[in-house]
Amino acid sequence: MLLKFQTDDVMNAPEHHRRLARLEDLEFANSFAGLPEAFYTRLAPHGLPAPYLVGASSEVAELIGLDSDEIGRPEFCEIFAGNSLPPGSDALAAVYSGHQFGVWAGQLGDGRAHLLGGLRNASGDWEIQLKGAGRTPYSRGADGRAVLRSSIREFLCSEAMAGLGIPTTRALAVVGADLPVRREEIESAAVVARVAPSFVRFGSFEHWAAHGRGDELRLLADYVITTFRPECRDAANPYAALLADVSRRTGELIAHWMAVGFMHGVMNTDNMSILGLTLDYGPFGFMEAFDAGHICNHSDHQGRYTYRNQPHVAQWNLYCLAEALRPLTGDREMVQAVVDDNFGPAFEAHFERLMCAKLGLREALAGDETLIGETFGLLQQQRPDFTLFFRTLSHLPAAVDREKQGKTDDPLCDLFFDRAACDSWLAGWRARLAQTPWDDTARRAAMRAANPKYVLRNWLAEGAIRKAQEGDFSEVGRLLECLRHPFAEQPEFEQYAALPPDWASGLEVSCSS
Ligand code: AMP
Ligand code: MG
Repeated sequence: MLLKFQTDDVMNAPEHHRRLARLEDLEFANSFAGLPEAFYTRLAPHGLPAPYLVGASSEVAELIGLDSDEIGRPEFCEIFAGNSLPPGSDALAAVYSGHQFGVWAGQLGDGRAHLLGGLRNASGDWEIQLKGAGRTPYSRGADGRAVLRSSIREFLCSEAMAGLGIPTTRALAVVGADLPVRREEIESAAVVARVAPSFVRFGSFEHWAAHGRGDELRLLADYVITTFRPECRDAANPYAALLADVSRRTGELIAHWMAVGFMHGVMNTDNMSILGLTLDYGPFGFMEAFDAGHICNHSDHQGRYTYRNQPHVAQWNLYCLAEALRPLTGDREMVQAVVDDNFGPAFEAHFERLMCAKLGLREALAGDETLIGETFGLLQQQRPDFTLFFRTLSHLPAAVDREKQGKTDDPLCDLFFDRAACDSWLAGWRARLAQTPWDDTARRAAMRAANPKYVLRNWLAEGAIRKAQEGDFSEVGRLLECLRHPFAEQPEFEQYAALPPDWASGLEVSCSS
């Protein structure tokens, strides 16, 4: 009893009672470096000349055990630009392979990422990786750099996704420099400090399978199981249990993406996390005018990674992982069945649960799939803004008297070309709400907690990028502040909830980063 009391007491200690370290007191250790040298190349990051801070997340600082006051020190920039290594750090770049756009691409690897090492504290194990700190043996002729534009997008979106409650790698900081980097145009360089328990990808396993290196494959699987999924160890086949685990988590992840209208844009197997995190933010997008066939990545000419394809692609990627793990598991039918039995049910159950919450349904009923299907049908036909549709719906009353109906429903109907289509859908929605009555204030509050007001629309990111390219980083900070609380009404950020302005209609994002 006493022991339990003490444990609870520590767990409930307010944030500021946890000891937060200064930069020089961070104790780095690198568990990935415990694997044999074939898995990586040890090398120090190349750093940036005269780095300056573009943005930082005090929440992520505290997550890794760092006092957020440390962000203001020049040493913070030096470390997270890759100019000086923190004590205990054993920097390395890891090797992996993968399927890109459905085609086997062979060896890839951390071509522009350096793993500094890991930090352990009460909130978990956190690896810190610098993306854009120069070339590695896996750069394949590219420059090892990341531009300010894509680094700001990765930084903001990582934290926006965390705010939405979606599993993701996190971002501690973006550090910039006046170092020219050639893309379609000359841009300037930046480094993002990313944080996650692990950056191991499906492609990390495919790498060893492709080379017929069964010992390394087993070592990697054992490392992931021992370090992150010890519960798999007790299963009849721990490797099949790992595959089941990642299939289930990936199913839940994709359900989350679909429910907020997130499109990853480059769901190659080297960008799929073995822990089921959103990983490698490039040409991602959030759905605006709804179109299930929307291609957010300008480089995706075939439309492989459209919104509607994401569940199928995730499953295809899981089959690649299953195939890679086959030497440790069983025959092809068996491993594909592991994926099917876990991915599909997890995706469907999670998606239905999230959609019921978005629609304000207190509990699920047998026919709800039909309402969800009709909702997507309406969105596809009428193409209202996805985020505004659900957020506006969250404010409408469950019952409305006929005379006032037009006025009450105007904010939602205004998003539609055909107001009658909206009216008739609303009648069906209200009839469904009546089947599971719920206090209307509670229902609306629950809907606002399920339907974000703020997502990282491309035009918002672009606005912050344009200012940053002129040396003004204030918008990066403001967007971060807003997107950390996407479900809250934040009157000071009202403009960030708006439809894209005219100037943003031609915005395109591509793999160029
Ligand atoms: P991505 O499309 O960003 O997921 O990257 C695919 C592969 O290309 C990974 O191996 C990256 O490390 C590598 N890569 C992308 N951009 C660069 C770059 N500028 N320099 C070196 N490697 C890169
Ligand atoms: Mg990648």
